[in-house]
Amino acid sequence: MADTTKPNAQNLEFQTEAKQLLHLMIHALYSHKEVFLRELISNASDALDKLRFQSLTDSSVLPADIELSIHIKLDKNAKTLTISDNGIGMSRQEVIENIGTIARSGSKAFLEKMTGDQKADSNLIGQFGVGFYSVFMVAQSVKLITKRAGCPEEPAVMWESKGENEFTISDTEKEGHGTEITVYLKEEESAYTEDWQIRSLIKKYSDFIAFPIYLPDEKGHEEVVNQTKPLWRRAQSEVTPQQYEEFYQQALGGFDKPLSILHSRAEGVMEYSWMLFIPSTSPFDLFSFERKHGVKLYVKRVFIMDNCKELVPEYLRFIRGVVDSEDLPLNISREMLQKNPIIDKIRKSLVGKVLGKLKEMAEGDADNYKKFWHEFGPVFKEGLHTDYENKDKLLELVRFQSSMGEKDDLVSLKQYVDRMRADQKEIYYITGENREIVEKSPHLEVFKAKSIEVLYLTDPIDEFIVNDIYNFEGKVLKSVMQGDLDLGELGKEEKDTRKKAESKYKKLSERIKNILGDAIKEVRITTRLKDSPACLVAAENSMGAHMEKLMKAMGQEVPKSQRILEINPEHPLLQNMNARYENDPKDPELEDWVKLLLDQALIAEGQMVSDPMAYSRRVSSLMVKASSKQ
Ligand code: ADP
Repeated sequence: MADTTKPNAQNLEFQTEAKQLLHLMIHALYSHKEVFLRELISNASDALDKLRFQSLTDSSVLPADIELSIHIKLDKNAKTLTISDNGIGMSRQEVIENIGTIARSGSKAFLEKMTGDQKADSNLIGQFGVGFYSVFMVAQSVKLITKRAGCPEEPAVMWESKGENEFTISDTEKEGHGTEITVYLKEEESAYTEDWQIRSLIKKYSDFIAFPIYLPDEKGHEEVVNQTKPLWRRAQSEVTPQQYEEFYQQALGGFDKPLSILHSRAEGVMEYSWMLFIPSTSPFDLFSFERKHGVKLYVKRVFIMDNCKELVPEYLRFIRGVVDSEDLPLNISREMLQKNPIIDKIRKSLVGKVLGKLKEMAEGDADNYKKFWHEFGPVFKEGLHTDYENKDKLLELVRFQSSMGEKDDLVSLKQYVDRMRADQKEIYYITGENREIVEKSPHLEVFKAKSIEVLYLTDPIDEFIVNDIYNFEGKVLKSVMQGDLDLGELGKEEKDTRKKAESKYKKLSERIKNILGDAIKEVRITTRLKDSPACLVAAENSMGAHMEKLMKAMGQEVPKSQRILEINPEHPLLQNMNARYENDPKDPELEDWVKLLLDQALIAEGQMVSDPMAYSRRVSSLMVKASSKQ
């Protein structure tokens, strides 16, 4: 029932996920409770940023003499802690949406990672920003009074809740815009009314906040307790590892430990401070266009926007950070950003720094680089397609799995070329869905026999980037599943065998082509098989089977390209078939065997046979024959 003593009062229920999170906050989490303060301060700071940004286009919302700031008041007797800001504030509808629903990134990610194990979950809280609701770890009830800036005619809003199932919302009075949150502390949490306690928490978690945070001193005079100089504007030596990490997690939405940090200031023709983080885990929305976090743009310390996509190219979209420019105009709009020469220069320079840092990591810290590659390799490789200018640097940084390494081993193109066999002329690769499939492919047989390394290209994007790479140090990339295999000197023996076999198998080959008709382009004697009877290869300039599969998965129409069936003259099956053919060119059993030969070649490379029923019928009938011979 709504409290009718309050004007325009409404009782509303929290949404399901919000309830779930609140329940956890109240009943299950016992450690890291202190983080509620950093969450409230960080919300206040965001609200101040938003107001300052709005004032750039509408100066009426922020009179010149107002200092944007955060105030904290402690009342030991009442056991309350009050935090107020003169930021953007919220309208009634905004309060309902923002604080009754749970579309918040931090909380969402938190719920996704939750294990159900209380101890583990309460540890998670330390790492995640879990937002406003974390206040219920320490509060028995909370009162929030807020007034939206720029809407003086709208009444202020009061939101109250014990955090159980519902909240009350009503009209109220408030002087000036902004938000004031009163936390009624639980009996056992009264330590949060201790001045020293709050000061040390601000030092620990919120020292980088760019707005002053005021707290009364012993005499009741308000004093600023944080450093206020934005973290990114300080020298590297002034920032502790903990501060970097706090900033990364709170201000940039990171939920891991950053893998690497870049921080500096450019001076000279252009001036800007920048701080970038390479995460150690990829976020769930890396492939979503609407992802929220990226590089924030500030101009002369004024927050302009989150996730400024013009500052980093798409293939580095996992980077998080801040750029604060002295040269851009404060009223810069999204449209202006797109062809802005200053932004372009900053982006170029940042890309150079990031690639430099990655190179350093690749050379000096292989384990971390492996981690990086595992998380972001598929995205990073897009750069080969889009960042032609940095192609050489990117080529130094790309890594592949290969036939020479174990599952986790990675090889660079340089390493590949350096350890290539002496007479080898090309860089060989195989594409496919995953390592398990490609490493068993019959196409690799001759390469294994001769210890020639083959790169395993198993990310969907790899099919597209091989063309972009084209060659490395003069060595062309060549698919082991496509075209005629020419190993040069290394394949001399196979070529001789082929030559001899060609005339011997000429008739059988014709018969095979005859039986299979349009299902294949032609039959030829292989130089790449050792143990398997046959395999399929794409014609020199046509699309490979894996590429076809990918294109179909993307909903593209692809004409079925005919492939070449390569047969192995050394294999007993082919030898027997040839003998049967010579004995009776019309031998009716040949037809079934040939069809099975094709189906097996398809299965071996992870494809579907064209008629599974017919395939299974043929295999059964062979098995019946074989088993009755006992
Ligand atoms: P997050 O900060 O990750 O968005 P929160 O749960 O902390 O999630 O906050 C939810 C939303 O409530 C914020 O995004 C913001 O829109 C609003 N909000 C919270 N605190 C304030 C505040 N002090 N001033 C204005 N809006 C606020």
